[in-house]
Amino acid sequence: MDWEKNVRRTEPYVAGEQPGQGGVVKLNTNECPYPPSPKVGEVLKGLDFEGLRLYPDMDAKELVNTLADYYHVKPGQIFVGVGSDDVLAMSFLTFFNGGKPILFPDITYSFYDVWAEVFRIPYRTCPLDGDFRIQKEDYQKPNGGIVIPNPNAPTGVMEDVGVLEEIVAANPGSVVVIDEAYVDFGGESMLPLIGRYPNLMVVQTFSKSRAMAGMRIGFAIANEKLIGYLKDVKFSFNSYTMGLPAILAGKAALLDQAYFKETVGKIIDTREWAKEQLKGLGFTLTDSKSNFVFASHRSIPAREIFQALKENNIYVRYWDKPRINNHLRITIGTREQMETLVAFLENYIKER
Ligand code: PMP
Repeated sequence: MDWEKNVRRTEPYVAGEQPGQGGVVKLNTNECPYPPSPKVGEVLKGLDFEGLRLYPDMDAKELVNTLADYYHVKPGQIFVGVGSDDVLAMSFLTFFNGGKPILFPDITYSFYDVWAEVFRIPYRTCPLDGDFRIQKEDYQKPNGGIVIPNPNAPTGVMEDVGVLEEIVAANPGSVVVIDEAYVDFGGESMLPLIGRYPNLMVVQTFSKSRAMAGMRIGFAIANEKLIGYLKDVKFSFNSYTMGLPAILAGKAALLDQAYFKETVGKIIDTREWAKEQLKGLGFTLTDSKSNFVFASHRSIPAREIFQALKENNIYVRYWDKPRINNHLRITIGTREQMETLVAFLENYIKER
């Protein structure tokens, strides 16, 4: 067709499967196995539905101000979006226009190269070492921007904040985005360094530790100037990204600190338990500081285990990609779900 020559063609990101049927032990998309805070439920039940006829506050002030109090920063230092995917995509569009390649690890969140492609941003991937660690020298070369998740996905590996700080300090001419989607599960945040580095931006999400993947809330924190540029682009794109329910539900979730701590604590305990169990079954694991583990079996190929699990309604994530095609990424579910997984694997390995 003639018009097709004018199409912006791109290969979309492939998200983990969302099975339609129930009865699945769903450990494939790093969701939280527990519900959001009951306060979120109360807010949504009490929502003034007639208020939905109005456009929401385009600055999402109630949410932004609550985040500002929570993280001890100014409201002008916060940008909110429809999940951190939205925040990250806007950041790529806003900050990565230098013409030089942007840098990110070769094994990482598989949305980064998709955004780079769709926005026509040149990029180069920097190989992690054999332990899936960053080699900081890779990021001390000319570049048009840097994005690093910490803890990394899908490895779960937490990079030393000192190493990341060196990267930020070495790149005053580039914006460095640290994607902290999983930081609440035992990682160390770079937020305390925001004041020191005008080129540092930290991105977090309500999708994992606050159990609200379905509500779509993400945010970035940086200095006001940087956030101002991000807002300019966002308001040139779509002013009303955050709906009223998301603004109110996000605020309620943040205010329920006790519930957040309890939920995260349970997931960390279950993760450490699952690590030990899986090691006992012959798996090698990274020291994940996230809500998933990254595991490779000493004798059984990951693809085979993935298939066997799936046939038995246990969903985990597998990528047929170089360097990680013998690993499984397993989201931490409830203790019961993890017991089901371990019992299945124990039996499978024995009977094989
Ligand atoms: N960053 C990383 C590293 C992730 O794994 C995810 C989850 N897919 C996201 C960002 C985006 O999460 P959300 O858009 O739900 O905030």
